[in-house]
Amino acid sequence: MPRGVVPRQPARTGRQDRVRSARVPLRTKADPRLARKTSSSVGKATAATKPSAKSGKPSKGYNPIAPERVTEILKRLNDLYPDVTCAPTHATPWELLVATILSAQSTDVNVNRVTPELFRKYPNVEAFAALTPEQLEPDVRSTGFFRNKSKSVVGAAKKLVAEFGGQVPDDIEKLLTLPGVDRKTANVVLGTWFKKAEGVVVDTHVHRISRRLELTTQNDPPKIEQDLMKVIPKERWILFSHQIIWHGRKLCFARKPKCVDCTLENICHAGDKTWSTVEMHKAAKV
Ligand code: SF4
Repeated sequence: MPRGVVPRQPARTGRQDRVRSARVPLRTKADPRLARKTSSSVGKATAATKPSAKSGKPSKGYNPIAPERVTEILKRLNDLYPDVTCAPTHATPWELLVATILSAQSTDVNVNRVTPELFRKYPNVEAFAALTPEQLEPDVRSTGFFRNKSKSVVGAAKKLVAEFGGQVPDDIEKLLTLPGVDRKTANVVLGTWFKKAEGVVVDTHVHRISRRLELTTQNDPPKIEQDLMKVIPKERWILFSHQIIWHGRKLCFARKPKCVDCTLENICHAGDKTWSTVEMHKAAKV
């Protein structure tokens, strides 16, 4: 870093001493995000004041789940990720179910490397149902936890063939009876394939970022989902999950989130931000 440039790492107190004098921009002055920071927020918020939903300017009675703040978050997510969907490639609900089971503790890139050959080798649910978990293991080994995943995929296939005519049901209660299918997996299949909003997908990204944005203080995925279902309008449940998952992949990383490039920055008060123009709340950490 050149001499004289103030580091972007914010003070843990939330007071952004000397931010005003920092040579900020990784952005141009034409960038509205920069304009917002430099003109309204930088150096103005203190630990004793609270930011408003839109501008980050101090206001009384800060409520992180106030409808206007939630609306602003959703609006900015729409601007950032207007047309996103589920990353695992799939052509049928069964393929989506398999890809989602395989994505646990893995990356979508990893899963997408495995599934084309997997679905060529076993083209339908009946082909999977004819396997033993041990036979499937070599095909899914690279996604990690392959023994459990093989058991889940083969078990789900057998149950679908035996009890559901080989069709993936569009009913959450029935989906939850399949081996290896939890609410996250069921919500992915229902939302992405059947366009049914039965809940909010809470994966590792949604878990982390919902807490950073103070939409929940819970740490348990089912409780986080319940909180999100209360504050996010139902018609946004499906898209919100996709957008937050993409945000986690692109900017809001678990370690060193790229806050300086994030358009949510001046309404985000997460305690572990790497750049801040507003008060940071310790309670809003990962
Ligand atoms: S400002 Fe930082 S912590 Fe907050 S949502 Fe954006 S990237 Fe994540």
